[in-house]
Amino acid sequence: MEKGEGWLLSAKPLLIAGPCSAESKQQVLDTARHIAKNFPNAWFRAGLWKPRTRPGNFEGVGKKGLVWLEAVAKETGLKTITEVGSPAHIDSISEHPTHAVWLGARTVANPFAIDEMAAALKSLDIPVFVKNPIHFDAELWMGAIERLKKAGVKKVAAIHRGFDSSSSGIYRNHPHWDAVIHLKALMPDIPVICDVSHISGNRLMIPQVAQHAMDLDMDGLMIETHIRPEEALSDADQQVSPVTLKKIVSSLTIRKSASEDVFFKNRLEELRNEIDSLDEKLLELLVQRMSVSRKIGKYKEENHVTILQIRRWKKILKTQHDKGLLSGLSASFIEKLFNAIHDESIRVQNEVMNPGSKKPKKYLPKV
Ligand code: PEP
Ligand code: MN
Repeated sequence: MEKGEGWLLSAKPLLIAGPCSAESKQQVLDTARHIAKNFPNAWFRAGLWKPRTRPGNFEGVGKKGLVWLEAVAKETGLKTITEVGSPAHIDSISEHPTHAVWLGARTVANPFAIDEMAAALKSLDIPVFVKNPIHFDAELWMGAIERLKKAGVKKVAAIHRGFDSSSSGIYRNHPHWDAVIHLKALMPDIPVICDVSHISGNRLMIPQVAQHAMDLDMDGLMIETHIRPEEALSDADQQVSPVTLKKIVSSLTIRKSASEDVFFKNRLEELRNEIDSLDEKLLELLVQRMSVSRKIGKYKEENHVTILQIRRWKKILKTQHDKGLLSGLSASFIEKLFNAIHDESIRVQNEVMNPGSKKPKKYLPKV
């Protein structure tokens, strides 16, 4: 069965568009009408309970916005989705139903909250979209999905909204595409949506982030859309108008997940064979390298010298970094690769120097 078949994907990508926050009935309906004109199959998002970092900012219109979302569904036919952060919010949804809900980044960081929410969501039987937690932790993200499934929530999807990096990078929330790939590999039935807006943090970045998400074969895009973005009460910098939304989505190149073309498949097979044999050589070389590390470990042990030799390590990193950059590899790749090699080298040297130390002994305090 296709991912999310029957409840999620009519055509790929699923588009979830609408304002960061519902502000007034007029703003919600005007935005929805424009979106529906261009994207009749889109889902309409609007936050009603806004999880602001500090109180006193606009914290959403709350329950009354649910009536506006009902009006959207009735008038435009768009499916509606909003964020729920507590069982009380879920009670309100059972009075004024939306088609789906999402769990926000702050809620997903708390397994107790997820268990409570899962118990309350089970009886609603609507799709639940799970954002990744604020800080980088792919396990916590997958854990929330597992908790929902375990509690009996049947329709679950994931949303990648990037992770807080607390640095001055180009993104508001740094995308961890590796976490998306990890999740897709371990949970192949879970559709994964990219929350382009919260990753980008500004309008200019949206097209390139959306294109990358599509090239990673993600299932949909969430793009915050407001009838007058510059007047938005929350996340004004990253919201787009319905007209811009149309331009962004129509300029995306949507590639297919696979091709049945025989020539394509044959050539791909040839190239993959090349990759496989190179990977094998890489592994052989790494095995050889670690066996030299073992000899070095023994030699250091005999001479009472520490495993870590920081000057030597810095020199290796610099040499490989400079060479790699000249050959067109990225600095971050070279660093990650050689750090991993060095970590493993330390591990094998430690095995030689301190045999038996790899199994941690239980620490039993003396009474
Ligand atoms: C939102 O989608 O408006 C939102 C608050 O998202 P997040 O939980 O990803 O910060
Ligand atoms: Mn927002």
